[in-house]
Amino acid sequence: MPIRVLSETIAAQIAAGEVVERPASVVKELLENSLDAGATTINIEIRGAGSRLIRISDNGHGIPADEIPLALERHATSKISILDDLYNLHTLGFRGEALHSIASVSRLTLTSRYQKESMGARILVEGGKVLEVRPVGAPIGTIIEVAELFFNVPARRKFLKSDATERRHVITLVSQYAMAYPHVRFQLTLDGREAFHSTGSGNLADVLVQALGLETFREMIEVSPLPPTRPDLPPIEVSGFTTTPALHRANRSQISLFVNGRGVNDQRLTFAVVQAYHTLLPASRYPVSVLLIQVPPEDVDVNVHPTKAEVRFRSPEAIFTAVQRGVRRAVIAQTGTAAIYYGEQEEEVYDPPPAYSSDEDIADQRPATLPAPKQYPAQMDFDFDTPAPGRYSQQRPADETDLESEDQVESDAFYPHYETPTPPTRRPPTEPDDPTAIPEGIGPPKKPRTLPILRVVGQISASYIVAEGPIGMYLIDQHAAHERILFEQFLEQYQARELTIQQVLDSGSVSLSPTEAHLLEEIQPILAEMGFEIETFGVNTYRVRAVPAMLADQDPHQVLHVLLQDSESGKVPGVQTIEEKILRRVCKAAAVKAGQILSHTEMQGLIHQLERCENPHTCPHGRPIMIHLSNKQLEKEFGRT
Ligand code: ADP
Ligand code: MG
Repeated sequence: MPIRVLSETIAAQIAAGEVVERPASVVKELLENSLDAGATTINIEIRGAGSRLIRISDNGHGIPADEIPLALERHATSKISILDDLYNLHTLGFRGEALHSIASVSRLTLTSRYQKESMGARILVEGGKVLEVRPVGAPIGTIIEVAELFFNVPARRKFLKSDATERRHVITLVSQYAMAYPHVRFQLTLDGREAFHSTGSGNLADVLVQALGLETFREMIEVSPLPPTRPDLPPIEVSGFTTTPALHRANRSQISLFVNGRGVNDQRLTFAVVQAYHTLLPASRYPVSVLLIQVPPEDVDVNVHPTKAEVRFRSPEAIFTAVQRGVRRAVIAQTGTAAIYYGEQEEEVYDPPPAYSSDEDIADQRPATLPAPKQYPAQMDFDFDTPAPGRYSQQRPADETDLESEDQVESDAFYPHYETPTPPTRRPPTEPDDPTAIPEGIGPPKKPRTLPILRVVGQISASYIVAEGPIGMYLIDQHAAHERILFEQFLEQYQARELTIQQVLDSGSVSLSPTEAHLLEEIQPILAEMGFEIETFGVNTYRVRAVPAMLADQDPHQVLHVLLQDSESGKVPGVQTIEEKILRRVCKAAAVKAGQILSHTEMQGLIHQLERCENPHTCPHGRPIMIHLSNKQLEKEFGRT
């Protein structure tokens, strides 16, 4: 193909790819324009998950009628005129690209009336071509309608996720902006139904109740600005709310950071928040935080990313320290005497920058109270009923495939409280493994063995079970193992439609964030099939009436939160159906946690069930359940070969 200059339309469509990825990105650009125009009320209406219609109206200052066609030109902006303006920016926009890009991939109508004019004007653009501009009567402010997004770039449409996911992105985005702008009233409707609103009271706490749900907000404490540690550092103000160590989530997605009113995705600052909880949260658990960070505009470079999601700081260390200090101070002030200590969190791999910490900050790093010594059950140390170590070594050499014969020596068959509703009948100790050999009526046929018989030696870190097998040693992750056992049992019962349900007596109601509520509505039919009975109790408020019996001992609200965790996170390769995803979550909620001390009997019961799981090697989320060190490996490690 000879070289040629692309037509303007195609060039615009390509450029649009950078800014407009999905409906939520359109909403983001339009919201930012409304905020830049000083709006105090912004209404967002979405139809068909945003592909059909996105309509945003604001009461900002509007656009002068004669400038309206210009607003849609590429690189047309009223926000900067020289490059230096970028370094003293008080607006969210500055590139002059958004409206142009959006108009090139949709049918866009912009109606606006400037505050100093008595008439408004309207412009219609289709795929970047202006169809009409005419004067109209309109209230002060701007209304933008984006219809049929990507109607002329079908390839882009294919990259959109399910409607539910696209809607969720919009809800999350709008609630994020509402948190960053508590003075502005936001209202979001999805296909005519209100999904979120904020009152514009100016009070961040009010927004958080709406955006995160009352339960989460109740566990939050205020982060207040602190005086700077050194006079030569730029003034940095960190304010907002963060959860107490009592509430934590499985990922960082609920740490929201805003720098000068701009939502930023900054791993380093997120890490500063996590660091502030050092030793106060269990490993791989994260707080929910909303932090509004104010820095002098000249200290931030916002021109590093087309969607402006990333920023660069002139003194990143100072901001890192301010965030970490602010959060740490709030958390320590609240936990004061709480005896929570989880030891080093080794998993974090981030080298924090040299902090400008004062002595007082270093003092803050220490746990408030030293951990109480853990109580180990007596049978952990001595269990006269278990065969002495070395039992296996006296047997003929066996390999892992030689499983059936080993079952002859299987001695204990405890089924402690890991049970699903119908406990299998306890079997006589020397029952042969071959299912055909089981006399009729004694109990359900046993599943074939998938692991050799394992003998529990003990527990480490209240998280791992140490066991001995015929050809070496096994380290078993108790949570992962239990998840796997429950998953296989539950799946079987679910497929056979034999689930047992447990009524929840009175759990009260739970108020969810709009994003969670939306997800709940989406998966409600599947949950119902699994035995959940959840009724609507008000806007984004629910009451749990029944749960699968497996979850009978769990706090139903905790369970709901686990079920509704951002479904984007923790993706499991090869998992197709949403049912399967939910099943995995249910089991995760029900499984014994890491950090829970187990009795020898409980451990043996767990291992016993694991030995007959179809796949005893990986948990339903794909992580390994056990580490096996063969006798050969051990000999090699000790230089015996
Ligand atoms: P940018 O926001 O980077 O300037 P946009 O393409 O988003 O670029 O918008 C172009 C211009 O149109 C803005 O600079 C602003 O003058 C005007 N504009 C867009 N939306 C609004 C609005 N809701 N209210 C007032 N003016 C607006
Ligand atoms: Mg803009």
